[in-house]
Amino acid sequence: MFRQTLSILLGAFMALTALAAHADAALGAKYHPHAEKVINNVYAIVGPLGQRSAENDGLNANYGFIVTREGVILIDSGPSRLGAQKLEAAVRKVTEQPVRWVINTGSQDHRWLGNDYFAAQGAEVVAMQRTAATQAEDATQQMQGLERFLGARLAGTKPLPATKTLAGDHATLTLGGIKLELAYTDTHYPGDARVWLPKQRVMFSGDLVYVDRLLAVLPWSSVKNGQKAFKALAALKPMRIVPGHGRVCDLAQAQRETGDYYDFLAEKVGTAAREMEPMDATLDRYADVPAFRHLKNYSDLHRANMNRAFTQFESQ
Ligand SMILES: [Zn+2]
Repeated sequence: MFRQTLSILLGAFMALTALAAHADAALGAKYHPHAEKVINNVYAIVGPLGQRSAENDGLNANYGFIVTREGVILIDSGPSRLGAQKLEAAVRKVTEQPVRWVINTGSQDHRWLGNDYFAAQGAEVVAMQRTAATQAEDATQQMQGLERFLGARLAGTKPLPATKTLAGDHATLTLGGIKLELAYTDTHYPGDARVWLPKQRVMFSGDLVYVDRLLAVLPWSSVKNGQKAFKALAALKPMRIVPGHGRVCDLAQAQRETGDYYDFLAEKVGTAAREMEPMDATLDRYADVPAFRHLKNYSDLHRANMNRAFTQFESQ
């Protein structure tokens, strides 16, 4: 009755939507991540493809973990304390082992703002040096941005950049008997890295690979690095890829939905830019590329992506 009266008073669909969002925040956010097996002892947690929200606790990205005899290696820690707790609950359904290590593949909010939660329980937080440096630089701004999406559900979140940093462009480490190889991709966000399990042939690509949805070229993303890093990833011939966003996939799908798109941006749009063709005419010419049309967010992102790619290649 109260709700009805209220909806009449507010009188709009938008108001109802806002009300529903608040109800979710108050009730504890409906989305609960769950783990799926990639190969023995290696799991993926595939997040929703849409935007961060109080409802999904900002877990709109993929995560993963590896169960070892000495504890769990978690790949990325979520965007908040509550998000980290939800990831932990998903791990808990698979194993009783504690999360002993967290590896960050990037410095975007949903990759690392849960670090503090796991560190407080004794986990060591590992990342490449520039990933950790970017985390420290962007922390304040990211917390402010997340507040808009998560509101009160950001409470208790303390930014903790990775404490164990790895020097060089490549790093190999063995944790709990599992060999992991990290390397920069520097594609979607500066300091982005991927984690490769050479024995299992599983790739946690971080935000280098997007499937099911179109990747986003942000003002600070690098199309050139994306093309190069994707070729390097493909050369390893991964058997399974846990992408940054989208379902777990094989190399062929990653090639079609990410590798080919970076090639398109670099070769079609980039070439036009270097040859000083007018930008508008170029964007119009490639306004619709059927090969990528089926991807979610295509109509929202494709033109803006080309615009940024054009600008990048124009100045190179
Ligand atoms: Zn992402």
